[in-house]
Amino acid sequence: MKKCQKHILPPVVTGISRKDDAVGITTTVPVEVLFAAGCRPMDMNNLFITSPDPEELIKSAEKRGFPRTCCSWTKGIYGAVHRYGIKKVVVVVGGDCSNTLALAEVLEYEGIECVPFAFPYRQSVESMGTELRGFSRNFGVGPESAEHWRRRLRQARELAAEIDRLSWDSQKVHGLENHLWQVSTSDFCADLQSYQNEAARFLEIARMREPLKCDVRIALAGVPPVVPELYDFLESVGGLVVYNETQRQFTMPGPADSLALQYCAYTYPYGIRCRLEDIVREIDRRRLDGIIHYVQSFCYRRIEDRILRENVPVPVITLEQDRPGPLSGQLKTRLEAFVELLWARKEGVSVF
Ligand code: SF4
Repeated sequence: MKKCQKHILPPVVTGISRKDDAVGITTTVPVEVLFAAGCRPMDMNNLFITSPDPEELIKSAEKRGFPRTCCSWTKGIYGAVHRYGIKKVVVVVGGDCSNTLALAEVLEYEGIECVPFAFPYRQSVESMGTELRGFSRNFGVGPESAEHWRRRLRQARELAAEIDRLSWDSQKVHGLENHLWQVSTSDFCADLQSYQNEAARFLEIARMREPLKCDVRIALAGVPPVVPELYDFLESVGGLVVYNETQRQFTMPGPADSLALQYCAYTYPYGIRCRLEDIVREIDRRRLDGIIHYVQSFCYRRIEDRILRENVPVPVITLEQDRPGPLSGQLKTRLEAFVELLWARKEGVSVF
């Protein structure tokens, strides 16, 4: 368990000690199949953003031909694959990001083995079953074995769900902790046992805390931010993030009796209409005062911003960021003004 001044964070994956069983992933995939195959999944996004110098990984991709106008997550994944010597990567070719198709072409060209997985276009249990069978066959895994791992991972997923519940129900978890413990369920920090042990220890500590004080309760919707610094900044001006939309989805929060059902209930690959149902329900359940819609520069998902704004009952601010690094003064001013506006709205005070 990694401790910083006020946060208790999940174990950081620092590299590969057993090279043979490491399989990189470019986003959340049916990780149960990889565990059943005896592989060690490593989320390249997490390796990128927790590396000592994420900016260097982006620059290394740009030196190898990735354009300035390409999303930093894509470039960071590419840089992390090479930095950490990953030889095999699962690439999601449907339901995630068109950048991944070109990324896979470049990686294969450079001798990295790429195994495709596609979320079906529609949330059809039958189509999901077909995709899962094909994916499992690629790793020599039978359906029973993958289902066994679905049951086995349930305990770790429930720990993540409990961390999330303590965030919004009791305000005992910082926004950054909520973000990292949940986002880490894409690969369970490449070490399931260690994730479970440390999540259980974290819960023991968090339950003993006094509730965190805040003026307003905030949602962070959209892709996980490339600037995790924003959580602490928000807390410093009175805003606590108690809902991380996509990160929570990575934990597979809904109960499901099969892998096909579980991955059909996962909203991230299925567009804004599907995501909105989840967001609107959580606004009410978590008593949220406002939403920060985080959009990554050069990401197509920004186009969905209007639909989000027009369909939620609370104020929305759209926050765009390109590269990792400290928050700019301008961004801080906007965030502070947004928190103030939410507080005034909640208290019925005029800010004009
Ligand atoms: S942030 Fe957008 S463009 Fe970047 S990898 Fe994710 S989906 Fe693709």
